[in-house]
Amino acid sequence: MEKKSIIYDLRKKKGLSQEALAEKVFVTRQAVSRWETGETVPNTETLKLLSKELDVSINTLLGSRRELICQCCGMPLEDSNTSRETDGFFNEEYCKWCYADGEYTLDIWKRYAEIGGKEKLEEFKNQLIHEFNTLLNIEGLPKVENLNVLPGEFINMEYTLPNGEKVKFLDDKQAYLGSQLESEFGGRCFGIAANMDFLLVCTYEENGENPELVIYKKR
Ligand SMILES: [Zn+2]
Repeated sequence: MEKKSIIYDLRKKKGLSQEALAEKVFVTRQAVSRWETGETVPNTETLKLLSKELDVSINTLLGSRRELICQCCGMPLEDSNTSRETDGFFNEEYCKWCYADGEYTLDIWKRYAEIGGKEKLEEFKNQLIHEFNTLLNIEGLPKVENLNVLPGEFINMEYTLPNGEKVKFLDDKQAYLGSQLESEFGGRCFGIAANMDFLLVCTYEENGENPELVIYKKR
């Protein structure tokens, strides 16, 4: 029984003929045909081009052979959250929140990559935990034990000011160190987030509803 290759499926999905795809990645139509029947496999350079044209990672093109994780934050990588270079090629080392447009997005990593890497990041994380636990004195906020890397777009809540104005404090494209904690008094949840520049604490109901800002403190 003939099993059509993933390249065949992706090409069809893009609505490309074998000729059209061949032209885009600088090979002959016959070469495309041979990949699709499994007779041959594209070389490394061509895989790169195919990955860009067909909008999937090289890992996916090769049948998802490896479990990829982001080298910054450890998040499992899928095509939808894998970072890209400015020229549109996938960068299969990092998630799109840690790395975008050719550089590290998170200040923490950008700066710590320069001066010492992962160990320094752990140190910084512990420093932030210490600050959350000693500087803020917020009633009901339990002791912070750990912080995770959180994409801005997941935690960028909109707060309503007393004058009715709505504000956001985070950047959807950045990543932050943060966590969710249950209030010692029950009821609302605490959300905490930080980076090199600030500490933020908010509370919200289940599923992040009715968020209220508790404190936004510059570091
Ligand atoms: Zn990441």
